[in-house]
Amino acid sequence: LVERMRPFGTTIFATMSALAVKTGAVNLGQGFPDTDGPTEMLDAAAAALRAGFNQYPPGPGMPVLREAVAAHQRRFWGLEYDPDGEVVVTAGATEAIAAAILALCEPGDEVVCFEPYYDSYAASIALARATRRPVTLRPGPDGRYAFDPDQLRAAFGPRTRLVLLNSPHNPTGKVFTRDELQLVADLCQEFGAYAVTDEVYEHLVFDDAGSPHVPLASLPGMRERTLRISSAGKTFSCTGWKIGWASGPASLVSAVLRVKQFLTFVNAGPLQPAVAVALNLPDAYFTGFTTGLQSQRDQLRAGLADAGFGVLQAEGTYFITTDIRPLGGTDGVEFCLGLPERSGVVAIPSQVFYDDKDAGRHLIRFAFCKRPEVIADAVTRLKP
Ligand code: PMP
Ligand code: GLN
Repeated sequence: LVERMRPFGTTIFATMSALAVKTGAVNLGQGFPDTDGPTEMLDAAAAALRAGFNQYPPGPGMPVLREAVAAHQRRFWGLEYDPDGEVVVTAGATEAIAAAILALCEPGDEVVCFEPYYDSYAASIALARATRRPVTLRPGPDGRYAFDPDQLRAAFGPRTRLVLLNSPHNPTGKVFTRDELQLVADLCQEFGAYAVTDEVYEHLVFDDAGSPHVPLASLPGMRERTLRISSAGKTFSCTGWKIGWASGPASLVSAVLRVKQFLTFVNAGPLQPAVAVALNLPDAYFTGFTTGLQSQRDQLRAGLADAGFGVLQAEGTYFITTDIRPLGGTDGVEFCLGLPERSGVVAIPSQVFYDDKDAGRHLIRFAFCKRPEVIADAVTRLKP
């Protein structure tokens, strides 16, 4: 194994899901729903399998899906992308992120990202021999996460190539406000940096969030320097399909495609027209998806508070972060390794998403993308 990949062991999600299977614990660790996505989408996939969509689709993705991706971004965010040249289909958001970093970063270039960060970010940056410059999100007295604008500015420099921004944010549930995004946008423009935005939770912002979802690309001067990434996995409850996409100016999208064609070449044929059907569903699907998850959040949040956890903000995504110190815990890894035996529930230690381990040592993350009866079972198990 090459030197630069040695620090990366098995992903925490694989480790904790295996522990859930072994112990029979309720798995609120890895974020995947336990119900299927919209019937229209499932029917379209089954029909496509029988209709001869089983050979290599076009490299940038099937036109019907690229058109649906563009129409969806116009409908929800007022963003205009040409489906022919400004949209590329990828193997989930994960491939889009990796391909973007590999396509844009020379060895030694710097990538500004907010920590805690999704685990593939550090690995993709390492694969490109680039360097990550993390900016720490910390919970304030109101339980909402924020960053220090001075730390953000200090993370930028002459080697900054891009900012990798995830909002709504996994694992904190933070939704970046327009003012916060404006600070990022100003620095990108001052330092000539690109932005790569991971918006896989774009439809998961709850009605008590401090801000609606604002794509960074919609801020003045940002469309031409931003690659906007999303995927079907979260919005349509099909994390196993691995259909994602990147949108942006043609120069950035063609750079991603140049790399992507040698990573996976193309992505699952029959699933592409099905995701197009899902993206074109009426608004009611998307609002129903959000309100359903909000009620699951409320259910789990109340249960975690009852069980004695310190519960932090959960404005978006399908995760809640909790502080284990009120329960006498100090180290989240130790706490999560013992939790399945102790309480029959699996959670994820947030510290694995930090470079600054101290900032996240006492925090653990629970996923609430589970049926109400499953959450009720977990809550009962967690009761002291
Ligand atoms: N980014 C974030 C923040 C995520 O939480 C996830 C999902 N788990 C991904 C990217 C990966 O998405 P996909 O499954 O579409 O590759
Ligand atoms: N994104 C999901 C999470 O954060 C799972 C992703 C994975 O298993 N790689 O839990």
